Amino acid sequence: MLKTIIYDGHINEIKEKLHGRKTEISQQVNEAVLDIIKNVSIKGDKAVVDYCAQFDGFRVNTYKELVVTKQEIMDAVTAVGNNFIRILERTKEQLIEYHKNQIEKSWMITKDDGVILGSKVTPIETVALYVPGGTATYPSTVMMNAVPAILAGVKNLYIMTPVKEDGKVSDVILAAAYVCGIETIYKAGGAQGIAGAAYGTKTIKKADKIVGPGNIYVATAKKLCYGMVDIDMIAGPSEILVIADSSADPCYVAADLMSQAEHDRLASAILITTSENLIKEVNEEISKQIQSLPRQDIIEESLRNYGGAILVDSLDQAFTVANELAPEHLEVLTLDPIEKLPLITHAGSIFLGAYSPEPLGDYMSGTNHVLPTGGTAKFYSALGVYDFIKRSAFSYYPKAILKTFKDDVTDFALREGLQAHANSIQVRFKED
Ligand code: NAD
Repeated sequence: MLKTIIYDGHINEIKEKLHGRKTEISQQVNEAVLDIIKNVSIKGDKAVVDYCAQFDGFRVNTYKELVVTKQEIMDAVTAVGNNFIRILERTKEQLIEYHKNQIEKSWMITKDDGVILGSKVTPIETVALYVPGGTATYPSTVMMNAVPAILAGVKNLYIMTPVKEDGKVSDVILAAAYVCGIETIYKAGGAQGIAGAAYGTKTIKKADKIVGPGNIYVATAKKLCYGMVDIDMIAGPSEILVIADSSADPCYVAADLMSQAEHDRLASAILITTSENLIKEVNEEISKQIQSLPRQDIIEESLRNYGGAILVDSLDQAFTVANELAPEHLEVLTLDPIEKLPLITHAGSIFLGAYSPEPLGDYMSGTNHVLPTGGTAKFYSALGVYDFIKRSAFSYYPKAILKTFKDDVTDFALREGLQAHANSIQVRFKED
């Protein structure tokens, strides 16, 4: 059941509750992960293998076996069957079609005086993609992270993932890697996998950037290795906010709210509406639909703790509240949803209309499902091609033009007490 909150111009209480859901990193986890990182950085492969044996219950015989073989990949492709490969191919095409628009080009201007200025875009060379392998398997994670990296031109893209006790990596993960053309997959997960990628070992190539979700050990390791490598964002609990008017179908609203609430007990699902009747009908639908959902317990708990229906006077008010909450996923189930787009300023991903439900975006709409959470959509964006590139500025000055800057740059440098800077300019005009 969603509790009704009547909007009175303030949402601080809800905001603090939702944005305060960050998974706490305990001192204990922090220390354990620091230890793992230190050992991997010193002992390399041996530490990686020992920790994998300890936490995942499988020990490879030789370090070479840390790498998934071509045969294992091909066996997985056969095991998942043609239809799932087709689905993965279709997902890839959808993602490419969307993300290719994000490809940034180098640019250059040549001024009349001969000065050339520009920006050279180059891909990050080596990227490790962490794919969780503990309690569930997420081939969609492989696709969402790999496609933008490939479009950016990343040369070495590899996967780190834990193995199961039988020493195998899930078939669906290997199949997704195959469809994305990723050939290197290391059987090492958790903090030891992250540390292996951050520091490099004899077997694991050192990465420049590590992306991908994971549990508390993985997230802590990524945070602690930041600086040695770049990382993507640290995802918080999932969230959906639905803005709906009386035209919305309560059956769809209820289904979509629960689609995110089932993620975990900290997930949040909020409805903002102008219709009191819709809240009543959505609650009736939740009670009906939840009966057949296997994750009923999780949904009930997250709806109870972090769910709610906010009753507003107008749709303008609804969008004001939504912008303040800056949700990860925002669904607009109103008349003329596309016309509402200009009203939205802060949201990770926006789903417009009754037939663009959020789960389509989790898999196949083409948009990325790696999104900012916890209100960080105010300053972060969805994962994209731009996360896998860097830009180098370049400049070319002819002597005659540098001469026109000689005195000004010298003055600047001397005011900063940097005599050698001034000297670098002056030595070029000694003869003049
Ligand atoms: P995981 O791969 O993240 O973690 C498994 C690893 O944790 C193990 O291999 C082990 O090395 C390590 N570990 C377990 N217990 C440990 C201990 N006591 N000490 C040290 N290390 C230990 O897989 P998971 O556990 O299933 O977690 C997956 C996470 O990824 C979930 O939290 C899920 O919500 C999240 N996820 C998020 C998204 C997203 O887009 N936000 C997508 C997919 C998954």
